[in-house]
Amino acid sequence: MTKCEDTPGEKCAVFGIRSAAEEVFDSIYYGLYALQHRGQESAGIATFSDNKIILYKNMGLVSDVFSDHLKNDRRLPGRSGIGHVRYSTCGSPGIENAQPMVINYSGGSFAIAHNGDLVNDDELRAILERKGSVFTTTSDTEIIAQLIVKEHLRTGDFIEGIKSAMNYLRGSYSIVILKEDRIIAVRDPWGFRPLVYGRSDKAVAVASETCALDSLGMQTVRDVKPSEILVIGDTVESHYGRKDEVHHCMFEYVYFARPDSIVNEIPVYEVRRNLGRILALEAPVEADLVVAVPDSGITAAIGYSQESKIPYGEGLMKNRYHGRTFIMPGQKQRELGVKVKLNVIKSEVLGKKIVLIDDSIVRGTTIKRLVKLLKDQGAAEVHVRISCPPIRHPCHYGIDMQSYDQFIAQKKEVKEIEKQIGADSLAYISLEGLVHAIGLPEEKLCLACLNGNYPIKEEQTKLSDI
Ligand code: SF4
Repeated sequence: MTKCEDTPGEKCAVFGIRSAAEEVFDSIYYGLYALQHRGQESAGIATFSDNKIILYKNMGLVSDVFSDHLKNDRRLPGRSGIGHVRYSTCGSPGIENAQPMVINYSGGSFAIAHNGDLVNDDELRAILERKGSVFTTTSDTEIIAQLIVKEHLRTGDFIEGIKSAMNYLRGSYSIVILKEDRIIAVRDPWGFRPLVYGRSDKAVAVASETCALDSLGMQTVRDVKPSEILVIGDTVESHYGRKDEVHHCMFEYVYFARPDSIVNEIPVYEVRRNLGRILALEAPVEADLVVAVPDSGITAAIGYSQESKIPYGEGLMKNRYHGRTFIMPGQKQRELGVKVKLNVIKSEVLGKKIVLIDDSIVRGTTIKRLVKLLKDQGAAEVHVRISCPPIRHPCHYGIDMQSYDQFIAQKKEVKEIEKQIGADSLAYISLEGLVHAIGLPEEKLCLACLNGNYPIKEEQTKLSDI
């Protein structure tokens, strides 16, 4: 599916590592490479060497941004460092907002990288500007950094400064900071976005997802807990900032996290398969073949097939070399774009009744094209099943779903959507089914884009002063 068109985007991923024995550039590179699915617009690495921070960031995929560093051995030196990949929302790409960001001030310097979104960013920025802060970017990350600077200088201690800054931050933030040779990982009190910590015999690392630790052969120790400030130096120390009620993002399980990751101690793959199984029980249909929208619908489709006993087959083939840069303006080009990205395996679908599984519907444009493609290639019937309940509300906590008018389910009932996308039938998993598949109590989840019940209430975002 095409970015900014029909699939919500994740804003970012973070990675940090400190080694007692080795240079860390390659580990950061491969850690970010494993997290590329969370952001493809820009990539950056900051390391600490010779008492200074060395930074390189640019627009593009990790492999593009750092190809010269690897090929010509221009690796950034240092035994500790952090990295970031960024997804930018429509209209706000640009190197000025790429991360990590380096801050120099009278208390020293640090590099910071952030995954998430603040909900009180405007207010914080205005207060900080009144108090003399000068901003050079439009990103939330700089607000967090300036707040930490201010509170460090006020308290005289960097960790106390972070703890104090957390009293004023509202929204989602999984952060890694490089301060001298220490890595500091911070997770917001609600635990919206994932953040994990792992180790090998030579290094300690933090990452947005366990798949990054796995790819480096490191053992996952545990999640960085909501409200936690994990300080990785010669020892690993745990501090806590302001606490609140935990609400993990349900969409990490449904779509964003890699299926081989474990998020909040729950394997994502199992959740997705459960979603498919529950969907088969809630919305059965007589059909010949279960087909997934690759790659997002595959695991749920396997679950649907296992529960329904309808065989799973590859009815749609994805061009794996189709990059995210393949964004074409105009309706005609977009239709061509879908055909180039996904093709129907005619022999698999000809004359068959198909159950087509995908993870979510935002605008409905892509699923409509896929139903048409399948029917044009001879599918007898196409029944669409979606492993996430209808998305009706914007996300304020780090997922690129910002406005009400982008959601087809905001304006139309299921029957109307079914007609609009040209499906023979359409069904979504229920909210109860989703919660059951994840296996966490409902009160520990954020479900705001589904039910409008936002964990951070308006009154919590109001600050009188800092
Ligand atoms: S609103 Fe939706 S996408 Fe955003 S954090 Fe909550 S569950 Fe996740």
